[in-house]
Amino acid sequence: MSDIAFIDLKAQQARLGHRLEEAIARVLRHGQYIMGPEVRMLEEALAKFCGAQHALTCSSGTDALMLPLMAWGIGRGDAVIVPTFTFIATAEAPALLGATPIFVDVLPDTFNINPAAIAPAVEEARRRGLRPRAVIAVDLFGQPADYPSLQDGARAHGLKLLADAAQSFGAGLGDTMVGCFADATATSFFPAKPLGCYGDGGAVFTDDAELVSVMESLRVHGHGGDKYDNVRVGLNARLDTLQAAVLLEKLAIFPEELEARRRVAARYTEALIGTVCTPHLFDDARSSWAQYTILPQDRAVIAESCKRAGVPTAIYYPIPMHKQSGYAHHPVVPNGCTEAEDLAARVISLPMHPYLNDTDQDRVIAAVKAGNP
Ligand SMILES: *Cc1c(COP(=O)(O)O)cnc(C)c1O
Repeated sequence: MSDIAFIDLKAQQARLGHRLEEAIARVLRHGQYIMGPEVRMLEEALAKFCGAQHALTCSSGTDALMLPLMAWGIGRGDAVIVPTFTFIATAEAPALLGATPIFVDVLPDTFNINPAAIAPAVEEARRRGLRPRAVIAVDLFGQPADYPSLQDGARAHGLKLLADAAQSFGAGLGDTMVGCFADATATSFFPAKPLGCYGDGGAVFTDDAELVSVMESLRVHGHGGDKYDNVRVGLNARLDTLQAAVLLEKLAIFPEELEARRRVAARYTEALIGTVCTPHLFDDARSSWAQYTILPQDRAVIAESCKRAGVPTAIYYPIPMHKQSGYAHHPVVPNGCTEAEDLAARVISLPMHPYLNDTDQDRVIAAVKAGNP
């Protein structure tokens, strides 16, 4: 028996077949590799997909976090509230701009930022002489954060709300989709994300037309009306036309893939509930299932049992950001981040992709059960 794929991009490629090759060939024929027509087409399609007024593509999920922070003028002397249980880019973006990330804890059931931590984080920022400016919510593993509470908290303290939706494009709360919950929403098209391209890519969603025009300028070196009169310091943060062409093809099958991911997750949960702690969703939350992450009694035993059965597993994330060498000097809220520390020691993620068949899923389930008697 061959090993199961953790994320199977080959199965998706086989399904899309010639459509991908034709899309790439069209770009090779027209030759507009930078900001070609596919880029604008994709931006329109992405905005329509999630219901946001505007979508601005860019070169990565990390740049999608940078662009709104830069447009809001966040930098030295400013504090940005960040959950500590996430991928490093969430804190890297404010830190690169000279702002101070203030780390806060997550909720033990959803793994997302605890909205009650905003007030003490604001207080901690002020105590250190910093201006609290923004809070970044992360939709970890594909489930939206508690945006209704976060919107209230951000408004109460005059903060911008930035959604790090790198893992959650396609997810939603009730009838509203990720892309519409924050002042700006950043997503990533890194190949392993729910909607991925064949390289790096990202996008920012917002309803704020003024923010879009500043980010458009920042995306191309801070250009103004005249190409050689740059009005601000910007980035080179465009999405390649080739990646936009690939994404247009993948977006066409994305709704079906999301459904397939939901079926895989539901089947895992049905089989594993009672054996391990399975993912907990809010009442009206729809996850995009970037990861299916469980809390077993002993993850080393599960990892070993899975390995023997040819089932790959992964740990997202073994070290919370406030414990990482490059970030440990940044402030943490006074109550600490004990939930995140506990989760980092216990989580383990199982293979998850839309093309996981029942037989392979049963192998995963059997291996988990064998490792958690
Ligand atoms: C992947 C990821 C990013 C960064 O995206 P890139 O496209 O790799 O720059 C940011 N935040 C989170 C939570 C992510 O998972």
